[in-house]
Amino acid sequence: MRALQLTAPGTLELREVPVPEIGPADLLLRVGAAGLCHSDSYVLSLPFSLRAEPLTLGHEIAGTVAAVGTDVTGRAVGERGVVYLCWSCGGCRECLRGNENVCLAAGRAAMPPCPGLGPDGGMAEYVRIPANSFVPIGELDFDAAAPLADAALTSYHAVRGARDQLHPGATAVAIGVGGLGHVAVQILKAVAEIRVIAVDIAPDKLELAADCGADLGLLAGEDTAARILELTEGRGAEAVFDFVGDDATARLAVRSVAPNGAYRMVGLGGGNPGIDAGPAGGPGLPWGATVRKSYGGTKSDLAAAVELARSDALRVVVERFDLADGPAALDRLDRGLIRGRAVLIP
Ligand code: NAD
Ligand code: ZN
Ligand code: ZN
Repeated sequence: MRALQLTAPGTLELREVPVPEIGPADLLLRVGAAGLCHSDSYVLSLPFSLRAEPLTLGHEIAGTVAAVGTDVTGRAVGERGVVYLCWSCGGCRECLRGNENVCLAAGRAAMPPCPGLGPDGGMAEYVRIPANSFVPIGELDFDAAAPLADAALTSYHAVRGARDQLHPGATAVAIGVGGLGHVAVQILKAVAEIRVIAVDIAPDKLELAADCGADLGLLAGEDTAARILELTEGRGAEAVFDFVGDDATARLAVRSVAPNGAYRMVGLGGGNPGIDAGPAGGPGLPWGATVRKSYGGTKSDLAAAVELARSDALRVVVERFDLADGPAALDRLDRGLIRGRAVLIP
């Protein structure tokens, strides 16, 4: 089969590889679509390899069951679904409480094995998955479904983690209207009676945000925090979701979040929010505000995102590419040219 593999730091190659063998608790999936995440670009930029042998990328996977492991019950060839990307143990106390995304077996790093980042992922014709990571999608298109596995899962989890702040009349800010952000805007509008302000450096991304239901779009600049304060009677937004995470956006989040508000770090840009333990007031983090580094989501968050998509409350905007054009799609993503999410079709 064809697979898009990371063969050396910074090198992505389309290669012919054997169709994976499956174990008794696994499924073989015929991939229908695989989403391209900014994290793939990050992995490609690492100066070291994640593992010794070539790694098939792709952690946003939708497809059809092509074979069922001998010990698996309740799954059948031909079923359509997406892959829950936290391949957690399922039995530890975090997993049992429904926090599979911070499974104890993953130690303090708390990132359970993820297809495309350790085990082979879905940018291939077939992928081996643990049977319990399969979540049915009904008749959803594969290209719209694949990004549910991360862009929607991660956004839904971050939003759910700020639910106490999202009361009617509240304001939420989404910084970065890319693959995750354009989904987050829709989720925010679907789950809460709130005003959503989108922030991006690109005017066309603000147009996308408006199409997704954002009430207002602001071009990121020196005055963005001041504009948000102006729009919120000087208080700030009850929730700020940063889907970029560089110095500028981290500082913007601190300066524009309201007292008792929620600042959620999702983007992995390595930025420094400059939070200190001094008294609140001025541009620093206000009293009562919480900061959470939000990783992925739980399996029930994924099921919820699938339901939103099935009920039409969430429509992922996709650009389709042939698997072989993966490197070109990644280049467009790096240059900020993708509208919504790029998906690869093997
Ligand atoms: P993307 O490239 O599709 O979108 C990024 C968006 O941010 C673009 O619209 C871009 O124009 C905008 N942007 C860039 N710099 C900006 C700035 N300074 N101010 C405002 N907007 C800016 O990326 P994506 O796939 O949506 O991923 C977003 C981030 O989330 C990445 O860092 C990715 O690694 C991370 N991520 C985190 C998790 C998690 O579990 N925490 C999961 C998936 C992705
Ligand atoms: Zn991702
Ligand atoms: Zn566990």
